[in-house]
Amino acid sequence: MKVYQKTHVGKVRKNNEDSLLVAEPNIFVAADGMGGAAAGEIASGMLIDTVKNFLSTIPEPLDENILSKAILKANAEILREAKKNPQLRGMGTTATILHLNKDQAYYAHLGDSRLYRLRNSALKQMTIDHSYVELLVALGELTPEQARIHPMKNLLTQAVGVTEEIEIDAGNFKVESGDIFLLCTDGLTNMIDDSQIEKILMNAQKDPAEDLINAALEEGGHDNITAIVIGC
Ligand code: CA
Repeated sequence: MKVYQKTHVGKVRKNNEDSLLVAEPNIFVAADGMGGAAAGEIASGMLIDTVKNFLSTIPEPLDENILSKAILKANAEILREAKKNPQLRGMGTTATILHLNKDQAYYAHLGDSRLYRLRNSALKQMTIDHSYVELLVALGELTPEQARIHPMKNLLTQAVGVTEEIEIDAGNFKVESGDIFLLCTDGLTNMIDDSQIEKILMNAQKDPAEDLINAALEEGGHDNITAIVIGC
């Protein structure tokens, strides 16, 4: 299995509020923090630390329910930290977790970071954004193309560490030989669209994560950009 990972501050922001994790046994996480001052970095960093520590205490095999529990634990930890620390109030983070075990993939997800799968030269988004514009797309009031450039595209309907109650999306599916997975934050998907991502993943020579980030930077790099690419 080949894994490429990269996170970049982008061309506009001063801090990188994204965090990522690549850990044994084949655990991959992308997290995009939000909040004033350094709060976003703290939230996404806490998410990664909590998920990593929690999963290291669980005997294999892991499944999507265990991944969801890891997000629930991070939710409680981030809420607790924000209560203790008034300047951190309102911080939160997205969480997209993928775990691969032989021919099975398991995922758990909250927010608008994404998991994609490239299979037989076709890219498919495996997660649904918890965002206001996604809701409007589901209602048929916006097309996906309109959603990408909508002024409220950053408004999340759910995030980790903001409310006590969260509804995590989780699931599993079979992995086929040749599948390529991508975990990424919206700093990538707001700059380049799915057809560009598909092309880059299919044509990458050396490091697809770097190619994706370079493409997002060329399109403006308005946000922090994170990409983890896993080839099976
Ligand atoms: Ca972002």
